[in-house]
Amino acid sequence: MEITNEILAKINKFTRREHNADELFVFEALLCDNEIDRDNERFTKEALTQLSTLFVGKTGIFDHNPKSGNQSARIFSTYLETDNTRKTSAGEDYICLKAQIYMVRTESNNDLIKEIDAGIKKEVSISCSCRRKVCSICGASRKGKQCSHINGKIYSNSRCHTILDDVTDAYEWSFVAVPAQVEAGVKKHYGTLENVDALEKLEESIELYRKSVIDDIRRMGCLKTQGAVGKTFSNAVSNMTLNELIQLKSELISENSKVSSKPQLSSGNMSQFKT
Ligand SMILES: [Zn+2]
Repeated sequence: MEITNEILAKINKFTRREHNADELFVFEALLCDNEIDRDNERFTKEALTQLSTLFVGKTGIFDHNPKSGNQSARIFSTYLETDNTRKTSAGEDYICLKAQIYMVRTESNNDLIKEIDAGIKKEVSISCSCRRKVCSICGASRKGKQCSHINGKIYSNSRCHTILDDVTDAYEWSFVAVPAQVEAGVKKHYGTLENVDALEKLEESIELYRKSVIDDIRRMGCLKTQGAVGKTFSNAVSNMTLNELIQLKSELISENSKVSSKPQLSSGNMSQFKT
């Protein structure tokens, strides 16, 4: 892809200093489209439009390539391309979201650039979040629940799938190295609301666990102390990270086991907290 002055101006909005064309490598990649994918899901045109805005400026990585490591590239521009001559399985005009991407040329990414030029790296994986997920047959919401229709099954000549709409965020994209003989294509990963729910549940569980560790530490008698020292200690404990709490708990357990084998030290230790 030729780096015109217009492209250069767009890229330089994202760089810390002005770059010239010789320092940059620019290429295009297909991010996603409105075709029903292998997970029986598809984006609406509106969703693709939202993604086109959200992906500008997002950096991606080249993974699964130990030789090149995780080298980053940034999307500096996106556009939707409609093909009126091609219909999707859902009977709509085919639309795809394309990204224009730049990398700053370095000695270490020389090989990678050659590979991209040779068309070896073709599969793009994206991750985003959609507020709306509906059944293509009955229109029921599939946010955390399922209607009677099954994805992939045919209902009166129509293959059931999930329609993804109302994109709230685009998280990342990555360029995955695939062997040249494998059909070039786009692999999509969606962070849906269920994933957000799962994450919230996980955070809840972590918080509950943290509280239980604090309770254990209290039970071990270290927070029974009254007055300023007790208060300071109590505050310090409640501000600790989970890892610090676990560490403290295990130290207390080992202290307590020493204490119980040497009862005469026990009262000594405890009285330190009481005074
Ligand atoms: Zn349905």
